[in-house]
Amino acid sequence: MADIRDRAREACAEAVALLLPVSCAGCGLHGTALCAPCRRALRPAPRRRDAQGLAVWSGLAFEGPGARALRALKERGRTDVARMLAPALREALRAAVTGARRPIVVVPVPTSRAAMRRRGYRVPELVARRAGIRPARLLVVSRLTADQRALGRAGRARNAAGSMRARPGAEGLDIVLVDDVLTTGATLAEARRALESAGARVVAAAVIADTPLRQSRPGSTESDEWADSA
Ligand SMILES: [Zn+2]
Repeated sequence: MADIRDRAREACAEAVALLLPVSCAGCGLHGTALCAPCRRALRPAPRRRDAQGLAVWSGLAFEGPGARALRALKERGRTDVARMLAPALREALRAAVTGARRPIVVVPVPTSRAAMRRRGYRVPELVARRAGIRPARLLVVSRLTADQRALGRAGRARNAAGSMRARPGAEGLDIVLVDDVLTTGATLAEARRALESAGARVVAAAVIADTPLRQSRPGSTESDEWADSA
């Protein structure tokens, strides 16, 4: 039932996006949803960064047109951009599951109720579905947290700790986590803790884009969908 409601809200958000004057998600150029140079900039180039002991694959660097496209999706209701970012997530996932010996279940980092109310869609799930992946919603937010975007590394770790729990059914699974942006890895570490305390094994993570914390500023768009700021 919740799924049906979510799909309906996503469909509404997409219908609204279609009514807006079109501009390039990567650079703002009018008259095109994604111009040719930005299309090239969004071509996946998977890379790996180990964050808090977890191998995290990303499809893009969080910079230039890729960063602007992600902001358009997260902050400006441009749900059409999910399709443009899907190849980056798909290639990151492909790299993350390479060499796996057992079937892998893809689990998105959960979206907080506040973010869901504000946006009407779950960014990691929406992009995963556009990439042809059906993620299993095995994590939920179990307590309210502050917005990660205003916090430094230590603050993010403290804020994230103990904020998620696994739904029944995770036990015994091999899991790859999915999120939109990697910053410190505090969110992914908490997601891993919650799943592994429920008896799952998190083998890797895949994100659309990777941004080292030193490049980020308070207030910049980052990961941590689930962080409740409202
Ligand atoms: Zn452009």
